[in-house]
Amino acid sequence: MKASAGGYARAVDVAHALELMAGSEGAGRFLAGGQSLVAAMNMRLSEGDMLIDISRIADLSGVREDGDRLRIGALTRHAQVGNDPMIRAHAPLLSTAVDYIAHAAIRNRGTIGGALAHADPAAEFPACALALGATMHASGSAGTRDISVEDFFEDVFTTALEEGEILTAISVPKAEPDEVQVIEEVARRSGDYALTGLCLVRRKARHRLSVFSAGPVPTLARGAMQALDAGDTEAAVEALRKEIDPPSDTQASGSYRRHLAGVLLRRAVARIEGDNP
Ligand SMILES: Cc1cc2nc3c(=O)[nH]c(=O)nc-3n(C[C@H](O)[C@H](O)[C@H](O)COP(=O)(O)OP(=O)(O)OC[C@H]3O[C@@H](n4cnc5c(N)ncnc54)[C@H](O)[C@@H]3O)c2cc1C
Repeated sequence: MKASAGGYARAVDVAHALELMAGSEGAGRFLAGGQSLVAAMNMRLSEGDMLIDISRIADLSGVREDGDRLRIGALTRHAQVGNDPMIRAHAPLLSTAVDYIAHAAIRNRGTIGGALAHADPAAEFPACALALGATMHASGSAGTRDISVEDFFEDVFTTALEEGEILTAISVPKAEPDEVQVIEEVARRSGDYALTGLCLVRRKARHRLSVFSAGPVPTLARGAMQALDAGDTEAAVEALRKEIDPPSDTQASGSYRRHLAGVLLRRAVARIEGDNP
C-alpha cells in the first residue's frame, strides 16, 4: 500500500517549522527521520498529513556539553548517538541502547527526538531518558519550555508535547566518575522491538530503574529502586514484578513479560556489580 500525504514543505529553521505548522489547519506532522511516521503512513494508519520536514534544521542536530549536562539535539540520528565520543563518555546508556534499536538502515535515518516524540512503549530511548533523569526541551508558538522526563510520557504514542510543539533537544546529567549505566532486553530476533527491557543507572549508590515494553509507557520501578538502594536484589526483583502490569499480545503473555523483567534485573545488577560486565 502507498502512503497518502496531504502535502510537503521543508522547514529551514524552528521558527519556519512552527509557522508552517500554524498554517496547516491541524493537518501538520513534523517529519524527522521518517522511520515511524512514513511506516504508519504506508499502512494508512495516518492519512492526508501535511508533512513539515524538519530534518535539515542544522540547529537541532549534534551534541554539546552544557555545564554538568549533555545536550543532544532532537535530530541527532541513532547512529550518531551510538558513535559520539561525548555521549559514550557522559551518557553511555544511550550509546549502548543504539545496538538494540532496529537495523543499520533505520539507525542511519531515525532520530533521538523522533523516537522520544513517537513514544512507542517498546522503544529503548524513552526508557533510557527516564533512567537518566532527562529534561526535554521544546519550542512552540508560546515560546520554549523544559519538560521533566517524568512528566513527558503520558500514554501509548502520547507525550506532554502540545499540538504543534517541536522537541528541540534532550539534556541529561553527565555521568559521575563511578556511575554505572546498563540496558538489558529480550527480543525474539536481533533488531526486533523488545518483549521486555530495562535500564539501570547507579549514581552515588542510588539507583534509577526504568522498564519498557511492560505497559503503555516506560516507567520508573520505584519499589525496586528502594530495594536496590538497600542492597537487596531479590527484594528488588519481587518489588519489580509486583509494580508492573505488562500486557499480553501475540508476542508474549503478560506473565512471561513479568517473569522476564525479574530475570533482566538480576542480569543488570550482576553487570553493574562487575560480575558479568
Ligand atoms: C522495521 C523497524 C524497526 C524498528 N525497531 C525499533 C526498535 O527496536 N527500537 C526503537 O526504539 N525503535 C525502532 N524503530 C523506530 C525507529 O527508532 C524510529 O526512527 C523512531 O521511532 C522515530 O524516529 P524518526 O526520526 O524516524 O521519527 P519520524 O518517523 O519522522 O516521526 C515519528 C513521530 O514523531 C514526531 N516527531 C519527530 N520528530 C519530532 C520532533 N523533533 N518534535 C516533535 N515531534 C516529532 C513525528 O511527527 C511523528 O509523529 C523501528 C522502526 C522500523 C521501521
